[in-house]
Amino acid sequence: MKIAIIGAGLVGRLSALKLILSGHDITLLEAHSFDHPHNAAAVSAGLIAPLSESVHTTPEMTELGFRSYHLWPKTLNELRELDPLHENVFFDTSGTVAISFPEEQECLLQYREQLNLRLPHLKSNIQMLYNDEVVELEPELSRFETAVFIANEANLCNQQFLASSARAIRQHASIVDHWALQGNGSELQQQYDWVIDCRGAGAVNAHTHVETDDHTLTSIRGEAIRVRTDRVAIRRPIRVIQKRFDIFIVPKPDNIFVVGGTEIDRQGDHAVTVRSSLDLLSAVYALHPGFADAEIIEAIAGQRAVFVDRNPSIELVENIACINGLSRQGWLAGPAMVEKLLHQII
Ligand SMILES: Cc1cc2nc3c(=O)[nH]c(=O)nc-3n(C[C@H](O)[C@H](O)[C@H](O)COP(=O)(O)OP(=O)(O)OC[C@H]3O[C@@H](n4cnc5c(N)ncnc54)[C@H](O)[C@@H]3O)c2cc1C
Repeated sequence: MKIAIIGAGLVGRLSALKLILSGHDITLLEAHSFDHPHNAAAVSAGLIAPLSESVHTTPEMTELGFRSYHLWPKTLNELRELDPLHENVFFDTSGTVAISFPEEQECLLQYREQLNLRLPHLKSNIQMLYNDEVVELEPELSRFETAVFIANEANLCNQQFLASSARAIRQHASIVDHWALQGNGSELQQQYDWVIDCRGAGAVNAHTHVETDDHTLTSIRGEAIRVRTDRVAIRRPIRVIQKRFDIFIVPKPDNIFVVGGTEIDRQGDHAVTVRSSLDLLSAVYALHPGFADAEIIEAIAGQRAVFVDRNPSIELVENIACINGLSRQGWLAGPAMVEKLLHQII
C-alpha cells in the first residue's frame, strides 16, 4: 500500500519502521527537520517506566506501557534489520530509584503507597530501601536514608533512537521535510491508500478528532535540561518526588544526564524559563554536589499532546488514521499504540 505519515516524531517513526518492514511504500511528511527534530520526542527523557508512571496516568495507558516495555527490544532489533550499519541504541533495564529530599519525606511515603494501591499484584517489584541498602544500589546516593526502588524499568536513549531511526527510514522511504499539513489531511486522501496523522501537539486545534468534553486535544509544555559531567556515577534514573512536581534525572551514554520535566499548562515552544531552570538545576545539585561543575549542553522545551481524559486515541475516518494523545508517556506507550493502529489498517 502507498501510505503517507504526517509527523516524524516518535509515533511517526515507529509507524514508518513497522510499515517499511511489512513492505509498504512510505512517504513521511514532517513540518520541521527530519534529521534534527524539534519535537516532544527530542526533548524527552526516554523513560519506559510503567510502574513509576502509573500514579500519573490512566489504567489504559499503564497497560499499553507494560505491552510496549516488551515490544521495545523487538523494535530495536528491527532497526538493525533495516540498517545493517546501525549503531546500538542504549536501552537499560536496571530499574528506577525514587527519593525525596529530607524536608519532604512524606511525599516519598505517599508515592510508595500510591504505587502499591495502583498495581497491588506488582508489589514485589517495589522495594523500600534504608541506609546501606540505598548505598548498595546506588553508591553515590549516600546522603539519602530512604529510597523506593522500582525494579526492571527501562531507560532508552531517545536521541540515539531518533538518529538511528532517521538513518534507517531514510534508506527505505521518501522523506519530505519542512512541509506542514494544514487542515485534516483530506487533500492527501486521493493520493494515498492511507494517511496516518501523527502530528502530536501540531494537531491541537486541527479538529481531526470527534471532540467531546473529555476528548479534546490540548497540550502541556515540558522542559528538560541536558548536562554532562564525569563527576557523577549514578546508573539508574532517579525520580525526585516533591510536593510541587516530580523531577527526573536520567543518565544517558557519554556522561550525559537529562533533567526534566516541568508540566506547564501553557502552549509555546519558547526557551526554557529562569524559574524552570532554577527548579531543575537546584534539584540536581541537591541530589549530588558533583553536578555543580556539570556542563549545560542543552535546555529545551516541547509540547506534550494530551486529551482531557489522559488516554491516547486512534481514530479512523475513511482512509485517514489519527493517532495522538500520548502525553508524557509516548516512549512508554508508543510501540503498543502503533501495534494497535497497524492491526486496524493492514
Ligand atoms: C520534557 C518531556 C519529557 C518527556 N519524557 C518522557 C519519558 O521519559 N517517557 C515517555 O514515555 N514520554 C516522555 N515524554 C513524552 C513523549 O516525548 C511524547 O509522548 C511523544 O514524543 C509523543 O510522540 P508524537 O509522535 O505523538 O509527538 P512528537 O514526538 O511531538 O512528534 C510530532 C511530530 O509531528 C510534526 N508536526 C507537527 N505538526 C505538523 C504538521 N502540521 N505537518 C507535518 N508535521 C507536523 C512535529 O514537527 C513532530 O516532529 C516527554 C515529553 C516531554 C516534553
